[in-house]
Amino acid sequence: MIPTGENLTRDDILRWLHEPDEEKLQMLWDTADRVRHEVVGDAVHLRGLIEVSNHCARTCRYCGVNAENKAVERYRMTEDEILSCAKRAAEYGFGTVVMQAGEDEGLSGKFVAGIIEKIKTLGDLAVTLSLGERSDEDTGLWKEAGANRYLLRFETSDATLYKKIHPDRGARVSNRIEQLKRLRGMGYEIGGGVMVGIPGQSYDTLADDLMLMRQLDLDMIGIGPYIPHPATPLADRSLFPELVKGVQALSDETTVCKVLALARLLCPEANLPSTTALATINREAGRAHGLSRGANVVMPNLTPQQYRVLYEIYPSKAGIHETAEIGMDAIRAQLAALGRSAGTGYGSRKHTGE
Ligand code: SAH
Repeated sequence: MIPTGENLTRDDILRWLHEPDEEKLQMLWDTADRVRHEVVGDAVHLRGLIEVSNHCARTCRYCGVNAENKAVERYRMTEDEILSCAKRAAEYGFGTVVMQAGEDEGLSGKFVAGIIEKIKTLGDLAVTLSLGERSDEDTGLWKEAGANRYLLRFETSDATLYKKIHPDRGARVSNRIEQLKRLRGMGYEIGGGVMVGIPGQSYDTLADDLMLMRQLDLDMIGIGPYIPHPATPLADRSLFPELVKGVQALSDETTVCKVLALARLLCPEANLPSTTALATINREAGRAHGLSRGANVVMPNLTPQQYRVLYEIYPSKAGIHETAEIGMDAIRAQLAALGRSAGTGYGSRKHTGE
């Protein structure tokens, strides 16, 4: 029996992260799948993703739409465009709309609050925001307007690595872990998570990341591979010589799935997406592997075609040239093949004992 929850130790986690044996790993996948089935059930919650703007004030070294990439053509969706995507989410029967963007002050507090209020009139939809490190004033306003959840991956628990890949924004010191706690205090369900295989990330760091996920008692955890974007500084590792010391964690599918499966064991009640980045590194089976190794959420992309190609946080994103309809057909077929059904309702975080 593989221990779960409080009984899984950091040493156990490290052993799994280093485990090469496929038969043993099958036990990890099976246990994560069983815990997922027992604790959050077989429903796969669908969250309609709208990438509302690729403007960004930050200079994250890993991200293709960072402010310093002058080659990016910038866009910001209008209110009508965002609402028509949200309408589509309601028509598809999704329980949640996710608005994601770069850290874009052009999306003013009031503008976003107005959209949240209007989305709430379209149907019984939960609203998740993923708009970066915005002020408490803005996130407070959005909570009042009806937003339910906030996604803010902490990216890595290694403070030194974090500083290198995610510079502060001027005088505003970045502390996503503290911000997540404040967002929870405001009443949001909170989502954190990491990229796997960031240059300079070791297996020890990943073990710490996983321990932090449990400590923060995250409601949602996003885990995907780091995928180098050629127009970003981090893609040229020679610029970061100090990062490549020690045992570099891989960014391959198996390592991502290990982190995902371990997150399920550590945080059995959390909502865990099978991420688009995972589907990008294995187009055939990445999403299905995620769903059968701990994940219970998929985020179908509803962003209009002309914009989704411009929201290039990493290259060759899965589904970037598809329409929303084609993407949905593929997801439905995958769920059917796995014997899983689409979730109904908000699909909020479970609390055992409720
Ligand atoms: N501006 C928002 C949304 C960013 S995109 C924010 O900063 O929170 C959402 C996630 O995509 C990021 O948190 C990061 O984990 C991931 N991401 C960004 N660049 C990536 C890359 N090159 N490879 C893989 N994932 C990446």
